[in-house]
Amino acid sequence: MMQDTIAAIATPSGEGGIAVIRVSGDEAVAISDRVYSGKSKLADVATHTVHYGHIREPESGARIEEVLVTVMRAPRSFTKEDVVEISCHGGFVSVRKVLDLLLENGARLAEPGEFTKRAFLNGRIDLSQAEAVIDLIRAKSDRAFKIALKQSEGSLSKRIKELRHRLVELMAHIEVNIDYPEHDVEELTNAFIKTKCTEALDDIERLLASAQQGKILREGLTTAIIGRPNVGKSSLLNTLAQEERAIVTDIAGTTRDVVEEYVHVNGIPLKLLDTAGIRETSDIVEKIGVEKSRQALGDADLILLVFNGAEELVPEERAMIEELSGRQVIAIINKLDLDQRLDEQVLIDAFGEERVVRMSLLEHQGVSDLEKAIGGLFFSGQIESSDLTYVSNARHIHLLKLAKAALTEAYGAAESFVPIDMIQIDIRNAWEHLGEIIGDSVSESLIDQIFSQFCLGK
Ligand code: GDP
Ligand code: ZN
Repeated sequence: MMQDTIAAIATPSGEGGIAVIRVSGDEAVAISDRVYSGKSKLADVATHTVHYGHIREPESGARIEEVLVTVMRAPRSFTKEDVVEISCHGGFVSVRKVLDLLLENGARLAEPGEFTKRAFLNGRIDLSQAEAVIDLIRAKSDRAFKIALKQSEGSLSKRIKELRHRLVELMAHIEVNIDYPEHDVEELTNAFIKTKCTEALDDIERLLASAQQGKILREGLTTAIIGRPNVGKSSLLNTLAQEERAIVTDIAGTTRDVVEEYVHVNGIPLKLLDTAGIRETSDIVEKIGVEKSRQALGDADLILLVFNGAEELVPEERAMIEELSGRQVIAIINKLDLDQRLDEQVLIDAFGEERVVRMSLLEHQGVSDLEKAIGGLFFSGQIESSDLTYVSNARHIHLLKLAKAALTEAYGAAESFVPIDMIQIDIRNAWEHLGEIIGDSVSESLIDQIFSQFCLGK
């Protein structure tokens, strides 16, 4: 199969020390040779070697750039095609000039994600690995990055392949029974089907359970800090921001209604809502209005409800406590350094002992208790940080649910002695849904859609 040759700038736009242009395809070396001059032609150099030289305009011979060129011949390259990477000076104009020359001499500008797409189509990586590359680019925390890295190395694919392998064995077993019905082992087969379905369902269940955590690690927990004026909301924010190096994504613009800011607590990214309100004035409700703050509350995955321990609860606080019971709340009793007047029991009754944290933000007490409480709320033990196979992609979650539904169907059918060739259809469906996760049997339009999310040059 003849592939046209694509080229793109692989490094971010703007100024940098160096920039890299990547060329991939059957003609990658030949096209590069048309614009490159060095000690030897690239066509003659050994694969996986680097060469110093110049990019020149073919007609005039004018030097455009001083470059280092890396040649990686198929199949030992990212795309499994011939790949040439040209490192030049980082200025935008010079990079663009080199790229233009390549395009004038036979290469085509790559679409976003096209390099990774070729890696997929050429069997170098599977679809879940390709999607992990997107996650790697977008990762907002160390932990999210590690998960994406692990997935790009194939940890999810491995789990899915194991699952599918089991289903193939099951289908083979059933096939034998369909082909040799005279053996009359139907009852045995039904028991066998149920056992195997249960095993597979357990696996899927575990992967789905990781989905919630995966989403949190990728996108952050939307967190609202709520409380009366002067209880310590700003102090809390500042403490959290100092605790782990804060990543501040200040959304530029004139409307500062809702500003997002990320802080990390034990590697969990918290996307704090309305921090402008919290930072600048005392009271979030005053600042952004009751309606807006209610809305923020509605969207929040986590609510940090702050109280002044030195004061008794006021009626509006009691109302808030009642309203928020049943939500993911951590009640923070602040100002522990002062004489305590607050009735803790009200908070314990509403939210549970493990969700009530006593702190003195002034004296930096209770910070680790808060971290523990937040961690405990969303990572309830069963997932260790070493087990980084998180399902975090919406498409994967959807397919896992479809597979689960099909297997549940198969189980029910086996239980009510539906003919086994009918059960076979359900199992086959489950097998196909799982296959779509790793890119077996996916449509071309879906593939295009997935890869279009990439940035240029990937
Ligand atoms: P906010 O209005 O809820 O954002 O509260 P701030 O964080 O601005 O704090 C209000 C006041 O309480 C400030 O003067 C803080 O220094 C003080 N404060 C915050 N935390 C503590 C604490 O743990 N102990 C004491 N004694 N004062 C605190
Ligand atoms: Zn404040």
